[in-house]
Amino acid sequence: MTIKKQMIFCDFDGTITNSDNIIAIMKKFAPEEWEDIKNKVLSQEISIKEGVGKMFALLPTEQKEVIKEFIVANAEIRDGFKEFVAYTKEEGIPLYIVSGGIDFFVEPLLAGLIEETNIYCNQSDFSGEKINILWPHACDEKCNNDCGCCKPSIIRKLADTDTYKIVIGDSITDLEAAKLADQVIARDFLIKKCEEQSIAFSPFETFYNVMDILKKREVTA
Ligand code: MG
Ligand code: ZN
Repeated sequence: MTIKKQMIFCDFDGTITNSDNIIAIMKKFAPEEWEDIKNKVLSQEISIKEGVGKMFALLPTEQKEVIKEFIVANAEIRDGFKEFVAYTKEEGIPLYIVSGGIDFFVEPLLAGLIEETNIYCNQSDFSGEKINILWPHACDEKCNNDCGCCKPSIIRKLADTDTYKIVIGDSITDLEAAKLADQVIARDFLIKKCEEQSIAFSPFETFYNVMDILKKREVTA
């Protein structure tokens, strides 16, 4: 069997980083209303797009530099990610980062590892009094989930119908992408969701595990 053209779509928060950076920012900088907004997102009363927009609108733009410094100093990149990036380059497999995070922390944390053209995330506007989130990758006509950064739409845009699509993620925001994937590599809450919906997946904790999963597949394909 010949391996088709492959592409990897990898989540950022909780997948490449050990924990969720939006939650970390809100815990540290936002007034307590943020928790109520977060709970409404989790209970699906409001969309991810609406929730993330409202949470960042709680933060004054003058805090930009402190927030950025806080994240760059505190976020941890998961073990093996650097080696994994090198592996995908050697194998010639395009690696796209698809993230519901925001450019001002996603891009500095990936600097020197991933080219900006391969990063799909939300953007930020600091020109007003409060942080305004911009949505350059909103849902296409096939998605009405109001995702904010719409992972299924990005996959549809980048992959052909015969592309072998590998999705790596950790949470509910990766579920719609996982449904479109040929192979799902999952941790944490995404495992539970895949089990519930009978989506096949391989579990991972580090990117060394991810490489092992992909190498095994090459041998047996
Ligand atoms: Mg995530
Ligand atoms: Zn969408």
